[in-house]
Amino acid sequence: MRFLGYAVANVFETLLRLLPFPCRTGLIKIGKPQKDSPVFLTCNYHLTVQRVKRALKGMDAYLLIANSRGINVWCAAAGGHLTNHEVISVLKTSGIEGLVGHRQVILPQLAATGVELKIIKEKTGWRIIWGPVYAKDIPVFMQNKMKAGRMEREVKFPFIQRLEVAISWAFSLSLLAGIIAAIFFPRVFVPLILFIWGLSLATFIFYPLYGSWLSSGKGSLTFSLLVWGVILLALVLYSHLSSGISWRFLIRWGIISFVFVFITTLDLKGGSPLLAGGFEELKVTIDEDKCRGAAFCETVCPRNCYDVNRKKHKAILPRAERCVLCGACIIQCPFDALYFKNPEGEVILPGTMRKYKQNLLGKRVMKTGNNR
Ligand code: SF4
Ligand code: SF4
Repeated sequence: MRFLGYAVANVFETLLRLLPFPCRTGLIKIGKPQKDSPVFLTCNYHLTVQRVKRALKGMDAYLLIANSRGINVWCAAAGGHLTNHEVISVLKTSGIEGLVGHRQVILPQLAATGVELKIIKEKTGWRIIWGPVYAKDIPVFMQNKMKAGRMEREVKFPFIQRLEVAISWAFSLSLLAGIIAAIFFPRVFVPLILFIWGLSLATFIFYPLYGSWLSSGKGSLTFSLLVWGVILLALVLYSHLSSGISWRFLIRWGIISFVFVFITTLDLKGGSPLLAGGFEELKVTIDEDKCRGAAFCETVCPRNCYDVNRKKHKAILPRAERCVLCGACIIQCPFDALYFKNPEGEVILPGTMRKYKQNLLGKRVMKTGNNR
């Protein structure tokens, strides 16, 4: 019965993934936790909570649910909805301080764009341990003495995740377009829905074929135009092979395909965790004089861009081309040794990143300046 509920929640919330799904905040006991049991913290996006509870099955632990307004961890942290304030609030109000004898709380690594380890320690005495990116890796993380290995620290975009994103896009778009078509253009209703689902599934399922081209800095506008061009060619070919096709048909479907190709492909940056979501001209830069090799950057980078030279106590960026500009490394570096820099030499201060995050859901303003 529980599995059925979990499956229904998965299907329903995948279809409506673009919307927030808040659940109750506070404290959940998993198994029979004791004074020395681990404390996990996650956001109050319903599906995430279900997945974390599932991953914790068989353990004795406490699970704190912070108020992220029903948004998933990465989007909430990057957009300023899962911050120090929400973490401090749940640590202070849930009663957890009276239940455990330690002060260690495990947060998902993707919260590192919004929650500052240093501030949480200063204000509450709690030490953050960064857990794995995906809840399913919690058992491995625990077996490994609460250390996330390179594999557990990296975001991926596997088939099942691409399918989920494709379905959520297709469902939302076809719901909206379907209502309009049913009222005003009933004859195109069925082909329109089929087109939207086919386009969305193809775009995300075939992502591995073109993803590296996009992440190498090529414009997504070029990609959208290419996809639209292919569809136009297919339409012309179809019209050539079937005698009854008219210019009216070609123009109508040319416009329809233009609109949906651009909506679907232009949001690839938002849909894929492997692409930078804007500000591509920025580069993470290391101030070698300030770096002390503390490796916070290496621990929180979801793209494994860093190595730390343990002998020289210095961070290096051997895989900088993989960076998605999430800002986690800059926000967490305790010595302000990292910053974003654009080709003109302007920098974004660590303090600015800490204040505005990526601001995906808000003003999305980042102040630049030459004074580090
Ligand atoms: S850049 Fe900052 S976090 Fe990374 S190793 Fe250097 S001091 Fe540590
Ligand atoms: S190097 Fe790039 S991807 Fe890695 S944490 Fe820093 S900003 Fe994020």
